[in-house]
This record gives sequence, structure tokens and C-alpha cells, in this order.
Amino acid sequence: MDVLSRGGIFVPQYDLWLDSHHSRPVAFVTHAHADHMKKHGHVYASPATAAMMRARGALRTRFHTLDWGERVAWNGAHVSLYPAGHVLGSSQILVEGRDGERLLYSGDFKLRESRSSETIEVPQADVVVMETTFGRPRYEFPSLENVMEDIRSWCRDAVAQKRTPVLFCYSLGKGQEVLAGLHDCGFPVAVHTAHAKICAVYARHGVSFAPFETFQEGQRLGGVLLCSKQCMRSKWWYELERTHSLQCADVSGWALDGGSRGFALSDHAGYSDLMEYVRLSGAKKVWTTHGFDAEFAADLRALGLEAAPLTQAKKTAGAEQLSLFSGL
Ligand SMILES: [Zn+2]
Repeated sequence: MDVLSRGGIFVPQYDLWLDSHHSRPVAFVTHAHADHMKKHGHVYASPATAAMMRARGALRTRFHTLDWGERVAWNGAHVSLYPAGHVLGSSQILVEGRDGERLLYSGDFKLRESRSSETIEVPQADVVVMETTFGRPRYEFPSLENVMEDIRSWCRDAVAQKRTPVLFCYSLGKGQEVLAGLHDCGFPVAVHTAHAKICAVYARHGVSFAPFETFQEGQRLGGVLLCSKQCMRSKWWYELERTHSLQCADVSGWALDGGSRGFALSDHAGYSDLMEYVRLSGAKKVWTTHGFDAEFAADLRALGLEAAPLTQAKKTAGAEQLSLFSGL
């Protein structure tokens, strides 16, 4: 089965778009992060992803929601979704060709535990297209519990010193994971409105959070604030800085690179989990996308697998595609 990187993932044989970067009449969408969703005419997605896309403005899209493992017939193939463990509702997409070949697209994923998203389930596949954002050995993430304990004690120390801790975290996924991990922190938690909107979707899909308040501009904070880093460019941020003694930190996997204060909580897989993903899928052929795609593919080839960055895929017959692999 050919697969191409053409502003998203395209399977030409079945006229199938996955996470297209451009609006299409119909597409499958793994999750509602901006680099994966567009406002298509029709979208096939998990119920939580559909709800989050609606919350993020996809109001004219017609949604077709699929339960995990439910197979939908598609131009002679069958397509199904499996949980990816990245954010709530995030999906891997399995395409079963009419010849029985199984192509698995990972979307964004992680194998580590989570309080706010489903546990990943990796189906067997012949060919995998996988994200390799953190595809170097230096990226190994600590356990969620260890990072959350660091975050809680950092916040407690700040509050004890009459400072206001601010955690910069993305409004979909990271914010909810941090919020779920602050359930017994012993100080008030406020979240930005963008985070609160997505928290409401999570709550409707069964994720429970400890009480929190939605931050109002001009409000006096007595505990921690969760917001995105872009908020530093808002007018209200200057007022917050003027009236509070702020102590800020990023919540990001890139904290492993050092630099500014940060906590290495990521919703992506670290290096050894990327390797484990390939093993769990059973695939012998791997296309890589995002981040260290060329480097990770080279590591897989050193292990005897066929692997290449998806940007190098060409619309060719299967045999020619194989020769592309072997030529690398
Ligand atoms: Zn994502």
C-alpha cells in the first residue's frame, strides 16, 4: 500500500486522507491539535476528538464518530481507530487493504501512563507511519508521577513564599494532565479560559478534575495558574505581573534540552518508547514523520528494519518503493 506525505498523510490507492493539513471533502483526524486538524467537510474521528474539534470551531463539519476498533468500509479497504494515549480521544488509524496488508498511522502517541487520556493499544501491522518528534536517545521522559511530584512541590514552595506559580502548558492535553495531577495539591488552581473550554469536553467524556476556577482578567490569584505561554503577550499579563510576584515554568518535553525552568512532562513518546512502538506493532517497514525522522529511521535500519522518512516516499509501485528503502 503506497503512502505519501502531501500536507498530511495520503493513501492514494484508497483515496484516503489522514490528518490532512488542508481542508478536504472528507478526512480522518487523529486528534484536535492544530497541526493535525482542519475544518473538513466530513470528518471520521473518535467521539472525544470530534467534540474537541467542535469546541475549537469546526462547527460546519459533519462528524462520523467511531468506537475503538470499529471498522468502516472505505473504497475497498477497512479503516479503524485505536487509542493513542497522546491526549483524550487521540487515535491511531489502521488501514486494512483489500489484499490484507495492514498500514498503521500512529498520529501523535505515547506509551507512558496518563490520568487524563486513554491507555494506548497498538494493533499489529505490516507497515507503520509513525511520529518521531523525540527520536533521539537523549529524550527519555521521567514517569508522570515523578514529574507531577516535582510540579506540586515547586508550586507549594512558591505559594509558601507568597509567590504565584504559573505553569505554561498547552490548552488541549497538557493542561488537563497537569490539572488532573494537581488533585491533592492543597492550594487553589486557576486555568485560562482556553484550557477551561477543553476541560469541559474532558469532563463530559468522564475525566474528573479536582475543583478549579476559570481565571478572570484582573483576578487576585491565591494559588497556581495554568495558561499557555502565548498569554505573556496579552494585555492582562502585564497587570498580573504588576500585581503578583510570579514564578513561571514551562511544562514541555523540550525541558530535557535544559535552558529555562521547565518540567519534562510530555504527551509524546520518548526514544525507547518509539522503539517499543515499532516492536509492539510487529511491523517490518516503517515510515517516520516529524522531528528526528531521518535519524530515527537510520537507527531502525541499523536494527535490520526497512525504514525511511515519509518525505522520501514517492508514488511508485510497491517494488520501487522497496528499492527506495534498500537504497538508503
Ligand atoms: Zn498532538
